[in-house]
Amino acid sequence: MAAKNTWGQKIKRTVTSVMPVDSARQGDCKRCGACCSLPNTCPFLRFEDEARRVNSYCAAYAVRPLNCRKYPRVKDEQVVEECGYSFPHS
Ligand code: SF4
Repeated sequence: MAAKNTWGQKIKRTVTSVMPVDSARQGDCKRCGACCSLPNTCPFLRFEDEARRVNSYCAAYAVRPLNCRKYPRVKDEQVVEECGYSFPHS
């Protein structure tokens, strides 16, 4: 079950983002953009097709914070169920 999408979870992800990504993580980002709305939609979230909201990308990609770079770092911090990453052995 995914963690709740709250500011408390965001603070937790931010604090723990200095830690490594779980080596059990599998899969790839499918660019859904869902993790860019945790809990509020990021102002840097863009889509190659804005009308259909497909193929998301970050307008501040080069300087994005660690919690964005590493999301989902561990299963317990994964908020978005439709994410392309999974932790089958966690
Ligand atoms: S929720 Fe997962 S698949 Fe979607 S953009 Fe974020 S990391 Fe990628």
